[in-house]
Formats: sequence, C-alpha cells, structure tokens
Amino acid sequence: MPGFEVLGAEERKEIEEVLNKGVLFRYEFGEQRGEQWKVRQFETALAEYTGAGHALAVASGTAALKVALAALGLGPGDEVICPGFTFVATWEAIFDVGAEPVFAEVDDTLCLDPNRLEDKITDRTKAIVVVHMCGGMADIEAVAGVAEKHGLILIEDTAQALGGRINGRHLGTWGACGCLSFDAVKTITCGEGGGIITNDAELWRTMSEFHDHGHDHRPVGRGNEGRRFIGLNYRMNELQGALGLAQLGKLDDMIARMRAHKARLTEALAKVPGVTFRRYPDPAGDTATFVSWFHATAEEADRFNAALSEASCGAISWYHNTWHYYRRWEHLHGAKTCRASGWPFVREDGRRLSFPPDALPASDAVMSRLLSWQIMVNMTDERLAELEAAIDKAAQAL
Ligand SMILES: *Cc1c(COP(=O)(O)O)cnc(C)c1O
Repeated sequence: MPGFEVLGAEERKEIEEVLNKGVLFRYEFGEQRGEQWKVRQFETALAEYTGAGHALAVASGTAALKVALAALGLGPGDEVICPGFTFVATWEAIFDVGAEPVFAEVDDTLCLDPNRLEDKITDRTKAIVVVHMCGGMADIEAVAGVAEKHGLILIEDTAQALGGRINGRHLGTWGACGCLSFDAVKTITCGEGGGIITNDAELWRTMSEFHDHGHDHRPVGRGNEGRRFIGLNYRMNELQGALGLAQLGKLDDMIARMRAHKARLTEALAKVPGVTFRRYPDPAGDTATFVSWFHATAEEADRFNAALSEASCGAISWYHNTWHYYRRWEHLHGAKTCRASGWPFVREDGRRLSFPPDALPASDAVMSRLLSWQIMVNMTDERLAELEAAIDKAAQAL
C-alpha cells in the first residue's frame, strides 16, 4: 500500500501552494486564502473518481469509521457485525460509539463470508461493517443482500481498497457509505487522513456537521443557523488535502504498475504444488497491493514461509500477525481497557462482553493456510527475480 513510494514534485507543489497562502484551516478565511480550498477540492476529486455523489475528508480512517457509525445513529445497545480479519480500527470505532462489535467469519475472499453472516444476527444487530481487505474485494453483492434481507445498515471499510472496483463500480459505493484511510502506509497517503464517500446527501450533511463540532453545514456557510446535535473535531487540514490531491492523481498509475508486478509473482506461485489463490469476485478490479495465496495445510504454509525467509523473501502470515487477525488480539480477549469501570467490556447494565480467541474456527482454517506478499509500486526487476527464485527454492521444501 505504497503512496509514500511516489511522493515527489506534485506533492511539493501542492504543499507549497498552501504554505504560500498561509491558511491551514479547511474552512473560512476566504479572502486570505485567495479562494484556495485544498480539502474541498480533494473531496470533489474523491467523489468524482469513485462516482459517489459526495465525499467528506476527515482526520484518519479510524475517524471516518467513527463519524460514519455516529452519523448513522449507532450506539449503546446496538450490535455491529464485522469480520475477524481487519485492522483493529474497525472494531475500535464500533466500541467508541458505544456499540458492540460481533465478529463474523471470513472465507477465501479474505472478507466476510456471506453464508455465515446470518449466524451472527440477533434482534439487537443494527449494522454490518464489511472490510475490503488487502486491496481486493468482499463478495459485496451477497453481503449487501444479507443486509437488505434483515434491514441492516451496511458500511464499507474501504481503507485498504481505494480504486478497487467490481464491474467498474467502485468499492465503497454499495453501502450507506464507504470509509477510506490515507495514513502513512495506504495506497494514497496524506501522512494521516481519512475520507467517507456516500450517495446520500442527507447522510453527508450529518457526517460533515458531526465531524466539525455539530456546526451546521449548509451548502454555503458554516455555523450560522444553530446546531442540530453535538459533535466532535475530526477535520482534515489543508496540508493533508494538498497531499491527497497530488496522490489521487497518481492512483491509477500506481495500481497499473502493481498489477504488472503481481501478475509476474502470481505466475511463479501458480507452479507450486498445492498453491491456490485468494478469490476475487472481480479479479480485474483488484488494486493489486498484495498477492495472497493458500497452501493445502497450515503446516505447509509455515514450512514454505520458513524457506522464503531463509532467502530473505519472507511472506506475511496474517494468522501469526498480531495486528490484523482476531486470534492474536490479546487486548480484546483480555478485555483490557483504560477505563476504571471496565467499559466497553463491562456494559452499563453489568453485562460482560467476552471475545474468546477460538471463536472463529472457519476463519482460522482459512487464515492459517494463507501467506501474502505486499506488492510495491517501485519493485525492481532484480527484486522480482529474487522473489521468483525464492518461490522455486521454497517449493522444494514442501
Ligand atoms: C488503516 C485502516 C483503518 C484505519 O485507518 P487510519 O487512517 O490508520 O486510522 C481502518 N480499517 C482498515 C481495514 C485499515 O487498514
């Protein structure tokens, strides 16, 4: 997820324009800024690029999730389903609005298994957060079908998959909204930053007002007509907006280059006995930030990866990684929190939420056989050749 690889003259020029005017705040100061609005321009560009009607830039991807969940009315008493394979931010945001995350199984798409979703629905379920992991896509049509059947709100965590499409339609445009991240390691980066895309003008307005202390956001003006509700500050600043504009202009080119690298590695991996690949509902719409493959058994995956590591080409084993998979979130299993009351694990009515590490056996069976390499934009021919050689060598260790 390599926006940082292509930082250059375009970003420098955008940043300089902001510094030259001297206004870092995204609102107001029209005269001083000479009507230069980088964050607003970035929002317009995001909406245009994705085909969503509206976009809101915010301070981070985590903030995007929080603002979306809050604006959609989710809170205490509500259950929100999310996958056990995601970045921790997805469920941190669910806890933060006061709702309860309910973890569901993933399948060979590495995203929510639509066939096992209904097991997790109760009379308190209000929403599903589907996460498009590792640059690819969930079976979003099927997940959206389950949400619709049960009258649940659908939110897409598209933090890792901006630019991904299914039959040309952008990820993040199926649900009520799609949440984006522009943190330092995402496909486009503002250093830190996030965004929310939506086709719902009224939701956009609520999110926009909530992320700015509840100030009213009429199409023109701000803070003139009185607040509809309390909010917080999750605003993006002009320097971030400037970076985002330059980076968004490079996105399709980055994706094209990663696709070429990925195709080469996929071809080499396909020759390894027992290797199969992550399933993509639309392979042509993958953003190619990762190549992800399965071995026949967990033991084979570990053995293959040990051989890759010996050749300085170790892959990511998400199953053993502590950041992205349920099985290794010890703070969640242990109900660890700063709050003296035990919140959010101890609820106001005294109930205790528990998240045992072995709660997702179907996901364990998928994740323990999975290995991934991150694809970089600037992968050299030498590096690709090195990875291909490591594949051949590791295949002999099987
Ligand atoms: C990065 C990420 C986030 C959070 O974004 P930040 O900008 O780092 O706060 C949320 N969800 C997923 C799936 C992510 O990868």
